[in-house]
Amino acid sequence: MQQRSKEAVEKLRKNGVTPCLATFRVGENKSDLSYEKGLLKSCQSLDIMCERKAFPEDVAQEELLRNIAQANEDPQIHGILVFRPLPAHIDQAQVENAVNPEKDVDGMTAASMAHAFTGGGPGFLPCTPQACMEILDYYQIDCKGKKAAVIGRSLVVGKPAAMMLVERNATVTICHSKTENLREEVRDADIVLAAVGRAGFFDGSYFSPGQIVLDVGIHVNAQGKLCGDVDQTGAEAVVEAITPVPGGVGSVTTSVLLEHVVKAACAAVRKSW
Ligand code: NAP
Repeated sequence: MQQRSKEAVEKLRKNGVTPCLATFRVGENKSDLSYEKGLLKSCQSLDIMCERKAFPEDVAQEELLRNIAQANEDPQIHGILVFRPLPAHIDQAQVENAVNPEKDVDGMTAASMAHAFTGGGPGFLPCTPQACMEILDYYQIDCKGKKAAVIGRSLVVGKPAAMMLVERNATVTICHSKTENLREEVRDADIVLAAVGRAGFFDGSYFSPGQIVLDVGIHVNAQGKLCGDVDQTGAEAVVEAITPVPGGVGSVTTSVLLEHVVKAACAAVRKSW
């Protein structure tokens, strides 16, 4: 994917266009800072510009919206990413939906969400579920007729991921904190997409032979190391294949995001002709 993006960036540059991502960060949250740093590095490696916009924790909502409106209007900016969650005094949905769907490279606006649920329209698919699909496609894992269990029903991961699996003809069960017999639901699936947001939650007893496991979780464990929602050692002994953490879904998510920026820049060039 990165190679593909790199080639597209070269073509754009020959036409005098440098793809540019604008990031919006409110406050000094550690994980936002680390994500921002990682994104800057990834953008640099693909010759994509990254304009970092930072605001104090107590920024007024109007100020944030005014800056987003400016970025929407700025022809040099092709993609906009807002680090979430935003502080409690800000209406997050209003901020999310203030982003022009054509620049919504993170797939967070209602228009982008509609794209995930209807399979078309403006906006980009949410990056993390799309990254899961890219991984399945890359390893030629055919979802047709397979049972998939998605654990988590957030709009960032679980719900759009379930829609994408249905689109690929899987039979999908969406599990959440009120699901009874979670262990059985997970054990019974051919494809497991774990997005519960709890470090090492799924030990080996949740799995059965032949399963494909996508571990979406990202956490820092007691030893200060990155880990996922799945206990990798326990699962690896049982399943057919599992994405690692780090170096799995998270890494592909960054590649998806950058590809969206490049695609947004290509679309802007086409529009200006
Ligand atoms: P979230 O909004 O907190 O959602 C977690 C989901 O898990 C909820 O639907 C919740 O159910 C469900 N859940 C929690 N405890 C459960 C339990 N004991 N049994 C069954 N279901 C349970 O989290 P998210 O934003 O979707 O993110 C999920 C994970 O993915 C996090 O670890 C996050 O850091 C990671 N993530 C990774 C990437 C990446 O690029 N790799 C991107 C985004 C997020 P209810 O709805 O009933 O509360």
